[in-house]
Amino acid sequence: MSFGHLKNNFFKQNKRQPLSLPEGLVIRTILNNSEDTIYFKNLDSKFILNSKAHALQQNEHDPSDMVGKDDFDYFPYDFAKAAYDDEQRIIQTGKSMIGHVEKWVQEDGSVTWFLASKYPLLDDQNKIIGTWGTSKDITDLKVAQEQLTLLNKQLQEANQRLEFLSMRDGLSGLFNHRHFYESLNMALAQVSRQKKAHPKNIFTILLLDIDHFKVINDTYGHLVGDIVIRTIGETLKKSTRITDTCFRYGGDEFAIILSDTELNSGQHVAETLRKMLASTPIVTEGLSFHIKVSFGVVSSDEASSATELVELADKRLYQSKTEGRNRVN
Ligand code: GH3
Ligand code: MG
Repeated sequence: MSFGHLKNNFFKQNKRQPLSLPEGLVIRTILNNSEDTIYFKNLDSKFILNSKAHALQQNEHDPSDMVGKDDFDYFPYDFAKAAYDDEQRIIQTGKSMIGHVEKWVQEDGSVTWFLASKYPLLDDQNKIIGTWGTSKDITDLKVAQEQLTLLNKQLQEANQRLEFLSMRDGLSGLFNHRHFYESLNMALAQVSRQKKAHPKNIFTILLLDIDHFKVINDTYGHLVGDIVIRTIGETLKKSTRITDTCFRYGGDEFAIILSDTELNSGQHVAETLRKMLASTPIVTEGLSFHIKVSFGVVSSDEASSATELVELADKRLYQSKTEGRNRVN
């Protein structure tokens, strides 16, 4: 059984289904009831026929009141000129313009967005005698789209901020303990991947701990202790290369990953930092005092995992403490 046969049966069974509609009824229905603007224009872009919605949009009592007028009577000059130019181009080329987004700024500053399509108007001999077109008010859609774009931007910023916060230590401004392990594992993976091509690829970790920090807290108070932690953070950041990364490991402990650095050079950097920290006084709230720091240094080729490296650095740091503090091991 063919599809055409099925269709014929359907119409026979549904007797109330009209087989044709009078053309006048179709045109009246569309022009009087469509929510979209519909218009027909002559070669000079003057209105010949308009839908009721178009008249309502322009505060005209009746669509026939628009006949003979043009967009310059209703819209700002730039908007009307753009529409006129589009229509004259359609008349010259015979090519339609589909789905064009137009922005109408009214005198009170309110904005209406349209989605417009324009076509050549042809007579029975296919001669262009004007243009016709439809336009849909898409303001609500546009506003929703703009809000969505704004929300997406805010979400992106909030995510960036969250990512930043999740890596940082609030007091010192340095990267935190979690990010230390992430960076260390990343650096280890990089070294092992490049082992064949760059066998000398090596980095060094400095682990440092303030000497007798409890005494500083007990003597000057916790707030001054916090200032000490912040100051050390700033000093470490200022005194290391851009390719080195400083972390607050926790409490009064800090860590630095020195990229492309062998153990000897790392120990040298630690010694320079030790001297600098010991000779720079902490000056705050009328107080001036010195702090001292002990170091444990380890290079990436001395162990194979992050945990083992940190354990070794910790052991050397402990050695510095037991040997009298304010030293590098
Ligand atoms: P040592 O030379 O052996 O390292 O002695 P220490 O007194 O520094 O001892 P330890 O490193 O074990 O103690 C660290 C102290 O740091 C204990 C804790 O009260 C203090 N501390 C940890 N975090 C903070 C902080 O955020 N702010 C302040 N003010 N103190 C902190
Ligand atoms: Mg300490």
